[in-house]
Amino acid sequence: MIVEASVPPRSPSPRGPLLRVSRWQAMTVQGICMWLTIIASFAVGFVSNGVVAIWPAAGFGVAMAIYYGAWSLPFIAGASFAYTFAFQGEHLVFYLFTGTGNALACVLGAALYRRMGGPKNPLKTVDGLVKLVVVLAFSMSVIAASLGVIVIFFAYQLPAEQLMQVGWRWFFSDFTGAVLVAPALLAVFGSWRRVRRSFWPSLLTQTWQPMLICAVSLVLLSVATGYMPDGLGQYPTVLLTMPLCVWLALRSHTPSSMLLLAVTVIGSLTLTLSATGDASESAFLAVQLYGLVAMCTSLVLHASTAERKRALSALDSERQSLEQAVKDRTAELRQQVKANKQANAKLALLATTDSLTGLANRRAFMDTARREIARCRRHRSSLSVVMLDIDFFKKINDRHGHAAGDAVLVSLAAALRHGVRDGIDLVARLGGEEFVCLLPDTTVEQAIEFAGRVRESVEKMSLEHEGETLKITVSLGVSSFSPGMESIEDALQMADNGLYQAKQNGRNQVGCCQKAADPVEAPA
Ligand code: GH3
Ligand code: MG
Ligand code: MG
Repeated sequence: MIVEASVPPRSPSPRGPLLRVSRWQAMTVQGICMWLTIIASFAVGFVSNGVVAIWPAAGFGVAMAIYYGAWSLPFIAGASFAYTFAFQGEHLVFYLFTGTGNALACVLGAALYRRMGGPKNPLKTVDGLVKLVVVLAFSMSVIAASLGVIVIFFAYQLPAEQLMQVGWRWFFSDFTGAVLVAPALLAVFGSWRRVRRSFWPSLLTQTWQPMLICAVSLVLLSVATGYMPDGLGQYPTVLLTMPLCVWLALRSHTPSSMLLLAVTVIGSLTLTLSATGDASESAFLAVQLYGLVAMCTSLVLHASTAERKRALSALDSERQSLEQAVKDRTAELRQQVKANKQANAKLALLATTDSLTGLANRRAFMDTARREIARCRRHRSSLSVVMLDIDFFKKINDRHGHAAGDAVLVSLAAALRHGVRDGIDLVARLGGEEFVCLLPDTTVEQAIEFAGRVRESVEKMSLEHEGETLKITVSLGVSSFSPGMESIEDALQMADNGLYQAKQNGRNQVGCCQKAADPVEAPA
């Protein structure tokens, strides 16, 4: 069991880690688990087959060495030696050496693994897995076997052939144990730091169904091997459990997959060995090899599937973030377009409106007038222009101030706007205290009448400004658009001439000029 050590204390949270232990406590627990595994392995191996058992304890050694490095050395050696000490009671020095050799092999293998960039959680990448199997498990097994052979050579003086056999057996046992058991330990207990309260319920929910299938399959295989034709039962059941291994490998929940893979492969190896009875050593090694291949295949399958899933989900989240970015940008652009439209509308209004009176300005008047003249030409209808200028306006400014003059202009503008036909006529401020009215479908007579009405109503108008009553009169000039006129400028010139006449004749009256040389009589 790999128990993450000394996680710094955090504020109490309902979803905090289940177990918080010191490094020493963690390694002691793992050492005890390793010791129990050695007992179980030896019991099963020697009792049932008379040859060496697979040694799952190597898996503990490897997993501990990945997590704790050199710190794990005394614990691995201690666990190995404790078995001998408790159950054999002889050759203690020999077993002390072999136990220490095994621990040294694990630590050296892990150091090499780390040096080559092996990750602490190697199960979800093919690269990490290759490093775990090829660098760590392989180098650890080679070192352990070599050290073991040296110790045996000095202890027993065996001939070279036997030494080779022992070394080969040793290598195979450690390698198989490491590959079969270490992934499950790393997956379930390796990420202890991240283990939350939800880990165990989630492991349980992810495990019970496949566990049931694995158990039923193994039981069926166990029963079936008894009825198989002679010799068939000797084939390793691990081959028959391959589809089960592949299914487990393809599951996305790594801890449950690794746990059940280890159980299935080890279980099927045990089944094979019990089916074959007292297996020869070479048959036993062959069965281990099958298990090794089945486990490696499953591990690679799991890692590559996990990589593919990660790549797909990365692509998906990138697509989602791109879509979100496009949405955000589109909304931003829409907002900008809206703001631009509003700004343009405001600009257009400013460009065509007089800021003091809110009436159309000269430019807007000229544009509308040109359009109206064109319409007037098309429909042969009449169109008149009335020009208006306040009499002695300078005096108002001088006597009452510029603000009073402005107030007069605003009031006059309102009165003019009020006096024209809504949506038909146009009132504009040409500049200063000069206004103009464009009257479509209005004959010169009607325009003169209109100008007269305006003059009268302005004369009657009085404006209160800062306690003073202001009174004004206006002079007006009328002209009507006639076919002889070239443009609106001509019509305005005519109206201006009429206005000049009105001013000349004493102000507060309407002057009319049909043609430059042909003034029309207008009422005073
Ligand atoms: P007349 O009867 O001959 O038209 O006399 P008048 O005093 O109105 O003479 P004129 O048209 O030459 O003077 C126009 C005056 O209007 C000059 C200027 O001080 C004043 N004026 C022009 N624009 C504004 C304005 O926006 N606000 C104010 N308060 N006065 C303005
Ligand atoms: Mg003027
Ligand atoms: Mg004036």
